[in-house]
Amino acid sequence: MTERNKPSGQGAGKIDTSDLLSRIDIAELIGRYVPLTKSGAEWEACCPFHTEDSPSFKVSPAKGFYHCFGCGVHGDAIAFLMEHQGLNFHDAVAALGGDALPSPQAGQEPPARKPARGTEGDEALCPWTPILPAPGHAGEPPKAHIKRGLPERTWCYRDASDKPLGYVYRFKTSTGGKEILPLVFARNETTGAEEWRWMAFPEPRPLYGLDRLAAKPDATVLLVEGEGCADAGDAVLPEYAVVSWPGGCKAVKKVDWSPLAGRKVIAWPDADAKRVPLTKAEKDAIAA
Ligand SMILES: [Zn+2]
Repeated sequence: MTERNKPSGQGAGKIDTSDLLSRIDIAELIGRYVPLTKSGAEWEACCPFHTEDSPSFKVSPAKGFYHCFGCGVHGDAIAFLMEHQGLNFHDAVAALGGDALPSPQAGQEPPARKPARGTEGDEALCPWTPILPAPGHAGEPPKAHIKRGLPERTWCYRDASDKPLGYVYRFKTSTGGKEILPLVFARNETTGAEEWRWMAFPEPRPLYGLDRLAAKPDATVLLVEGEGCADAGDAVLPEYAVVSWPGGCKAVKKVDWSPLAGRKVIAWPDADAKRVPLTKAEKDAIAA
């Protein structure tokens, strides 16, 4: 069996999907949901499964696969419909076998975007479940990314008792842009293997600076955008507990803001004047 013909998903042993997949133009399929740009023999886009500024998500019509060099998501047309549209294996196969592919415009609303990994129902596709905080035997996180090389910066997210929850790495891309990749220690529920994985924090995601919040229980909280900004603030404003969150403006709703409840919070907008809309939890926290 070739790489291309590997069946995907649950129940795959009973259904031969190779013939079906051989008839599918995976770029045409994914292009219905993700704005793809031609790049040589492949297509690319900013990954729909993780936050990034430059495209790491590649689609190969010749191989019949998509792959993200950032977060590692990988699969065929069936896997894409399962992961991106939330279909189960049989529905994804049925969708590809019918005349009409499910589209975001047709029928009911697509399910809310889910994190690509470790979520309920995705075990067959991605068996990795983040372990937070990282256990003592996790060891040191990787120094570099196999594709992106050495990071420019890394930041360790710590819980209130100073245990590492995971990391955020910032890489410089070949085009001079930046790419942010989260890293967590995760367990493979199928094989039992445990290792550091390039995966997002599970939602709701932790704040950056939970250790500072705990160390300064009475301090006013200064909420800034970006881990680097938080570190800079912490260095010059020791009277504040300076915190941030993963994923920037786009990911505000994915964060666990509850540690700010009951704290006095000053939200400091980024210098580029992109104002961060306050969440209810933030407003509640500020009002408290
Ligand atoms: Zn990705």
